[in-house]
Order: sequence, then C-alpha cells, then structure tokens
Amino acid sequence: NSQINKSAALFERAKKVLPGGISRNTIFKLPHPDYVEKGEGCIVTDINGKQYIDFANNMASLIHGHAHPIVTKAIVEQVQKGTAFTMASEVEVQYAELLCSRVPGFEKIRFVNSGTEAVMAMIKSARAFTGKAKIAKVEGAYHGAYDYAEVSQTANPNNWGQEDKPNSVPVAYGTPEKALDDVIIIPYNDIPKALEILDKHTGDIAAILLDPVSHRVGMVPANDDFVEALYEWTRKQKALLLFDEVITFRVGFSGAQQRYKVSPDLTAMGKMIGGGFPVGAFAGRSDVMSVLDPTQPKVLLPHSGTFSANPVTMVAGLTAMKLFDHNAVEKINALGDFAREKIRLSIKKVGIKACVTGAGSMLRVHLKAKVPTNYRDAFMSAQENAALKILLAHSTENGIMLINTCSAMLSTVMTEKEILILCNVLESGFIKVLKQIPS
Ligand code: PMP
Repeated sequence: NSQINKSAALFERAKKVLPGGISRNTIFKLPHPDYVEKGEGCIVTDINGKQYIDFANNMASLIHGHAHPIVTKAIVEQVQKGTAFTMASEVEVQYAELLCSRVPGFEKIRFVNSGTEAVMAMIKSARAFTGKAKIAKVEGAYHGAYDYAEVSQTANPNNWGQEDKPNSVPVAYGTPEKALDDVIIIPYNDIPKALEILDKHTGDIAAILLDPVSHRVGMVPANDDFVEALYEWTRKQKALLLFDEVITFRVGFSGAQQRYKVSPDLTAMGKMIGGGFPVGAFAGRSDVMSVLDPTQPKVLLPHSGTFSANPVTMVAGLTAMKLFDHNAVEKINALGDFAREKIRLSIKKVGIKACVTGAGSMLRVHLKAKVPTNYRDAFMSAQENAALKILLAHSTENGIMLINTCSAMLSTVMTEKEILILCNVLESGFIKVLKQIPS
C-alpha cells in the first residue's frame, strides 16, 4: 500500500513532545494511536479517511454521538457570547435545577470539570461532614485519579492479597503509605465478607464509595441486598454512602440509583452530563453539601475551580440532558437489551467461551465462559488478553470502534441497524479468535 499512513507520521511527531506520544494512556495503542479527523452522529472518520461506527463515544461521554445539531447550535451561540467568566451564569442555575429535578436525592449540586474531580470533592465533602478520614471502596473499581479513589485496581494478581482481605494496592509508584492506610478495600457483592472488613474500621470510615455497575469490576450491577447492606452499615456508623455514577448515570432517567430501594447520600457524575465538554458534578443531601456553602460561619470545605460551571459546558450539558428524556432513555436501553441478546446468540452459535455483561446502554464482552461476579473474575489471563486483542483488532479493521476492554457505549443516534453491524462483526471476530486460540 503506497498510501501514506498519516496516523503513523503524526505519532512520530507526537513522541517528541508528549510522553509516549499520547495525552491519555487509555487510548494508546501500537503501532500507533488513531488520530481523528471528524465525527458526525455515530460515525467517526480518522485522518486516513477510514470510517468507524463509534461504540466508544469518548469513553461513554457522548450520549447523542458526535456534533448533534441541536447541541452544536446551542454551544456555538454560547461560544460567541464568551466561554468563561469570573461571574456565575443563569445557565448553571438552570442546569442545576434540571439535574436536581431528575433525581429524588439531589437536593443540591456542585459542578466541577471532570469525573476525577467530582469523586475527589465528593470524598472530601464526606470527610468534612463526618470528621473522619477513611473511605471504603470495592476491589478493582475505577473512580478516577485521586490518590484515595484510585487505590486497588492493579494489573498484578500477586498484589491482590487474600480474597476476603484484599490489599490496598497503589496504582502509582510513590503513592503515600498513609493514603493506602486510609482506603479500606471490600469485595464486590459479598455482604458477609464486606461487612466483616468494614466492622474492623468502625468509627474511622467517612464513606463507602460504590459504582453501581463498575466497568472494571466486570460491568455487573451491584446486587440490591449488597447496596442495602452497605447503606444500613453507613446509617449505623454515621458514615455516608457515595455513588460514582460518572458512567452509569446513563442507565436510568435518574441514574442507575433509581434501581435500588435506598439512595446514596451523594452521587458523582461526569462524562455524558457535559454534552461533549469536560465536566463533573456531585449532588445529594443538602446538609452534607452545606460543607461547601460560603455563607456558613465556618466553611468546612472551601472549594472552587477556575472552569467549574463554565457556560459552554453548562449549555452543552443542559441541552444534551434535555434531549436525554424518559423516551430517549427507554429507547437506548431497549437497544442495549437488543445488543446483549444478539451477542449472546452469536456466542452460542459460534460456540466460543464468552459472555456479555452490562446494563442499559452499556455492555462488555468477556472472553470467559462464566459471567464474572467481581474484579478477580473479570480479570483476564494472558490467553484471554491475547484473544481479546484479536477481537478488538478485527473490530477496528471492520469499522467498529470499541472501548479497549471490548465494551460498547451506545448513543441515542444509533438504531438496530448499527447494532446488527456490531453483532455481525463480533460474530466473525469470535470465529477468528476460535481459529487462532481454540478455547
Ligand atoms: N469514575 C468512573 C466510574 C469513571 O469511569 C471515570 C472515567 N473513566 C472517572 C470516575 C473519572 O472521570 P474523568 O476521566 O472525567 O476524570
């Protein structure tokens, strides 16, 4: 092929100025990352002119796909009026009203600039409110890059520790030991083991942090009784229950939390609620959120961010979330059910050891016979990893863009047509995997 590969050439330049040639390790791949030209609806075109149906949607952040005309129009109008000010704006109030009206437990909300920042400020709010330092989180769950939130997603099983006593393993070299000591790791969906660990730290835990359908833990929903047990424990111990709905808010009109009998005290959000722009937010109980309140005689958590609630993000988010109404949620979730069902049929037809997990508009394909129940189960062996790489490369070749765990995040502009293309490509991918790595 005499055609110049523009992505390869750009990567050569990138390596000279960006560490490893990339700004986000999650989108790194060899021989070179893909570089985008443009996106429209659910189609992305790279700089070599190759087109993909986008099932990654910037890691679940584009609920309406790319450049949705209504969202774009609203953004352009705002950009022409200015992008960021040392002033508050009406649209931030409007957007706060909209999000608070969607979720019964959202009495107050604060906007920030990323999911990482939302989880961080939420944890700090819980500490300020309870006067306690420790947090508990599920083994392997990803919650962004705050030291305390990122503990315990390790790629090395030798570091995991015993199943009923998971280690507090750092992700980054140099993480302070003190930070590790202040994070208590609990097994997923296992009430007796989780409670046994929590009970060793009564009096010290400010909050339990839980993603109700954690991607890294296998994208299996938290059981009702697990969530209720954690809720009850936090009531008894004067601690808080925090949900990370940075990804899962898309699962219901009121987030994935609407599926449970109990409500978290605070919820972190991000991704989709920015309408395509950088965003984070956390919301919940008014008394807890008052730690941020500058009108209090003593502000327990002085908190700001230069670009927090900037009007471009607020306009984009407000417009996108107005479009993501009851009807849109129902439609996209039905599409998710349709996709999971079709993929299950393909798995059966091909006879590969694989399964599919997920909820609503999110799904993950595992090259494992048994549906994983926690992080240890979902963790891939070297052979499973090699098989997954074949499947992902096959998908990319055939114009399907997935998240690198073989997860798909649907957008509202998709129809059954795109889902059927996805399923066909996965099916031929399963056949290819079986040929190369018989299971
Ligand atoms: N929590 C969860 C569950 C996430 O998936 C992510 C991002 N993948 C974050 C937090 C961090 O969000 P951000 O990348 O916007 O900082």
